[in-house]
Amino acid sequence: MSDSLFADASQRLEQALKYVSLSDDATEHLKYPKASLAVSIPVRMDNGTLRIFQGYRVRYDDTRGPTKGGVRYHPNVSMDEVQSLAFWMTFKCAVLNLPFGGAKGGITLNPKELSKMELERLSRGYVDAIADFIGPDIDIPAPDVYTNPMIMGWMMDQYNIIRRQITPAVVTGKPLSMGGSLGRDAATATGAFFVIESIMSKLNRPPQETTVAVQGFGNAGAEIAELLSKAGYKIVAVSDSQGGIYTKQGLDIPSIRQYKRSSQGIKAIYCKGTVCNIHEHEVITNEELLALDVDILIPAALENQITEANVQDIKAKYIFEVANGPINSVADKILEQRGIHVFPDILVNAGGVTVSYFEWVQNRSGLYWTLEAVNQQLKEKIVKETEQIWAISQTLAISMRTAAYVHALNRLGEAINAKGTRD
Ligand code: GLU
Repeated sequence: MSDSLFADASQRLEQALKYVSLSDDATEHLKYPKASLAVSIPVRMDNGTLRIFQGYRVRYDDTRGPTKGGVRYHPNVSMDEVQSLAFWMTFKCAVLNLPFGGAKGGITLNPKELSKMELERLSRGYVDAIADFIGPDIDIPAPDVYTNPMIMGWMMDQYNIIRRQITPAVVTGKPLSMGGSLGRDAATATGAFFVIESIMSKLNRPPQETTVAVQGFGNAGAEIAELLSKAGYKIVAVSDSQGGIYTKQGLDIPSIRQYKRSSQGIKAIYCKGTVCNIHEHEVITNEELLALDVDILIPAALENQITEANVQDIKAKYIFEVANGPINSVADKILEQRGIHVFPDILVNAGGVTVSYFEWVQNRSGLYWTLEAVNQQLKEKIVKETEQIWAISQTLAISMRTAAYVHALNRLGEAINAKGTRD
């Protein structure tokens, strides 16, 4: 395995470069982030003490438009991780043909340890620290792991205070009452659902005969489990950060979601309950979930879940990456050799940023769409790109991941060359 997440992520670029005629300038350009910012955020804690948090924002490439990407609150956040996630956003936005480049942000912390007031001060402090780096035509943050509409609302409000003007298009994934879009909350899973449906119909696999395991029960994981189970797929296992549950007959996803919601403390922002406490099912570990003999495996948690350490245990036939970067490049090659089909993050989870784009368009036009219009446009866009990537993978006899990078690189290369040679 490469020594950094970014070095590993770059392997995908190297792999795809073999199949596109990209100019040397464009190739060189795409190897480095445009700008990286590291900030220290002072926060007055509820007990009166001052704590300094480390935050980051990386704008990877803005050739195709203002940069776009979420902000993650997690103990593992580092510059290396944020840069990798910004790199993936660049390709994701190009895959979906959105007029955006890629960015990402993050703060290193365990958000479950903070009170709501502390979280608000931290989120506002983050925006104070990066305000000159963002803007509706510069860089537009959004939710990611452990950030949500409430946090996006605070961030937008803080930006408005700094700029002394209402600027809803500076952040997406906001609450509806502050200019958010219908359908944004469920968009990552909705997009993934459209991709899965379009692939499964090509493969002639009826949902009723298809078993699924989902790793991660956050915004994306819980929603995709529910959408698939409503469509007739059999969800045999789900998990959260504490572990998972398994039932051969299939799980009742709405009741599990209800359980997770109800086990939240009154004042808690994050769900403190775990699916493992639902005693009628067999309790399994996250490792065991990944190794289940299912048709579809959906990693919907964090990066680096399938690596050289456990790739030989994987038994699923198809893997749809709802998380960003859940499979490292070494494991990727082994899965390919073993005939396991991987559908990549930069396509499968692109529904989130696509509806973020719709939100940004709505904020700028002042005209708000119905849920049906949002989902219809999302479906059209993501299914069209899925078809094109499928065609590239068939024609060149390459994996769906490499095909997705080829597709994105064609668009990025064209834009970089069109910009001219001023370096
Ligand atoms: N954090 C999400 C992602 O990784 C959404 C980003 C956005 O909406 O800008 O794609």
